[in-house]
Amino acid sequence: MTLPIDFADIQAAAQRLRPVAHRTPTLRSRTADERTGAKVFFKCENLQRIGAFKFRGAYNALARFSPAQREAGAVTFSSGNHAQAVALSARLLGMPATIIMPGDAPAMKIAATRGYGADIVLYDRRLEDREAIGRQLAHERGMTLIPPYDHADVMAGQGTAALELIEDVAAMGEGPLDALLVCVGGGGLISGCAVAARHLTPGCRVIGVEPQAGNDVQQSLALGRIVNIALPDTIADGAQTLHAGELTFAVMRECVDEVLTVSDAQLVATMRFFGERMKLVVEPTGCLAAAALLEGVTRLAGRRVGVIVSGGNIDLARYGELLSHPPA
Ligand SMILES: *Cc1c(COP(=O)(O)O)cnc(C)c1O
Repeated sequence: MTLPIDFADIQAAAQRLRPVAHRTPTLRSRTADERTGAKVFFKCENLQRIGAFKFRGAYNALARFSPAQREAGAVTFSSGNHAQAVALSARLLGMPATIIMPGDAPAMKIAATRGYGADIVLYDRRLEDREAIGRQLAHERGMTLIPPYDHADVMAGQGTAALELIEDVAAMGEGPLDALLVCVGGGGLISGCAVAARHLTPGCRVIGVEPQAGNDVQQSLALGRIVNIALPDTIADGAQTLHAGELTFAVMRECVDEVLTVSDAQLVATMRFFGERMKLVVEPTGCLAAAALLEGVTRLAGRRVGVIVSGGNIDLARYGELLSHPPA
């Protein structure tokens, strides 16, 4: 079966991103190694531009626009990291961007997105359908809609995180990864990473991690079809997706070996580990993959394990609150 993306797409994305994206560090931690018995390699996308890997996919997609598409610009719907990723990418590429955000999104996020020069269209979460608004704007203004995960160029861009991680592990003189842990929301990140891993290290197990409260991809892979769930109650707001994408599901079916889940309490324990031990601020969703390993959901002693740390955008007051009053 041919998949929506292949390794050449990820290599091409890496070329486009090289001059603009940060090559984020791959960090080790003696504490993590001792606790798990594994050799752990953390790919720190919390240190990426806009504070999350989403810059990779958004920039890769916008950089491929035709001159006519650039003229009209990009539109997307998101209240999270994808909004800022599209806004910054559009600014870097000199094109307009419109971001459709819920009127009740945190003022800080709205301001940050506007700060990148994007037009913000606010909508009422209870009464309006953001996808319909997006399609209408795309139609009226000729703008190109770039969804947060279900898009081949977005998926290929996200895959460059795993490409760099695998290159870094080799440059450290280590053997190939035995396992790669990646968080799963709509599946854009893990799709790209799985295609990169399968090409570069065919023996590597690709393991997705979802919040316990929202394991739609785990269910979907078990049933062989995309399962829809109600809005999950979890602090992992970047993984509160209701269903996988058509394209991401096609890749995950082929290239993801297993999907695990972690609780909110395990996410906060992992935020504490990153803060105390590695001096890294990581948002709850960014802790999903690491939590599965550090909290013993999967045991990979004796293995070389790559972990994608996906983002670090969290209000500091909220960060302090979660650490001082962890969810049960
Ligand atoms: C978007 C996001 C995710 C989930 O990525 P998908 O491509 O939707 O699976 C995970 N972590 C962070 C920080 C994100 O912003």
